[in-house]
Amino acid sequence: MQHISELKEVKHINLIVFDVDGVIVPRGTEIIESGSSVTFNLKFPPKKFIETTKELLNYSNVAISSGRSMLTLKTMFTELFGEYKNNNHFILQAENGGRISIGPEEIGAGHNPDYIKSLSTLRAELRKVQHQHIKGFEPKETFLTIHCQDRVPQIEEIIDKNNYYLIWNGEAYDIGDPNITKGTGLQRIKELLSQRTGKPINAIAIGDRQNDIDLLQQADISVSADAKVLTEANYYVPDDNETLPGLILAKHLLERFKEN
Ligand SMILES: [Mg+2]
Repeated sequence: MQHISELKEVKHINLIVFDVDGVIVPRGTEIIESGSSVTFNLKFPPKKFIETTKELLNYSNVAISSGRSMLTLKTMFTELFGEYKNNNHFILQAENGGRISIGPEEIGAGHNPDYIKSLSTLRAELRKVQHQHIKGFEPKETFLTIHCQDRVPQIEEIIDKNNYYLIWNGEAYDIGDPNITKGTGLQRIKELLSQRTGKPINAIAIGDRQNDIDLLQQADISVSADAKVLTEANYYVPDDNETLPGLILAKHLLERFKEN
């Protein structure tokens, strides 16, 4: 892996994809579920990221790819939602590839109808698990996210690994359709954009955790925001405790675009 400063040629890039937690905002979701109320914290991207992204849209499409729900992303990125310039769009991809929003349009990700139908039964079954580690279910449409203080063996036993993926990320379980990932979501965005523009789409993507592996594999240029976790990428952004990796990449790309 090369340091991101080695990426000099950017003219061909027309899609920039950012993971959110750990890349644009600090990691960690606090969730409290009590009776029929769910409370969880929202984090907003730094002002500098919003300003830089608005400028990047002069040169390239910009997409967010996150495991969070579409409603959460639209709230977090309210200052960028619907933004477009020079035929470049600000795109939101929610639920690990499960939902895509471009301007006023919201598009599904091609889930199997039987999978979607099975989710409510699975959710009801998982709801029965009582364990002191369980903090709550984060509201999602196309997969399940259960926040826990630590792993819960009963949850892991219920999941049929033939039909669902199960990812433990240190603060929550994500349980979803193995055929839909951030990688398939990126493919879908590329197809949509190339149909609209009639041009091939060259994407650069940055992520920091296991749910970004497919995203980085499908990207034309991959960037690891945590070289200890994602060890296979073309470039890495160094750990800088002051600045989030997504902002470092955004600034670097903007400088290079302006030079060209
Ligand atoms: Mg992340």
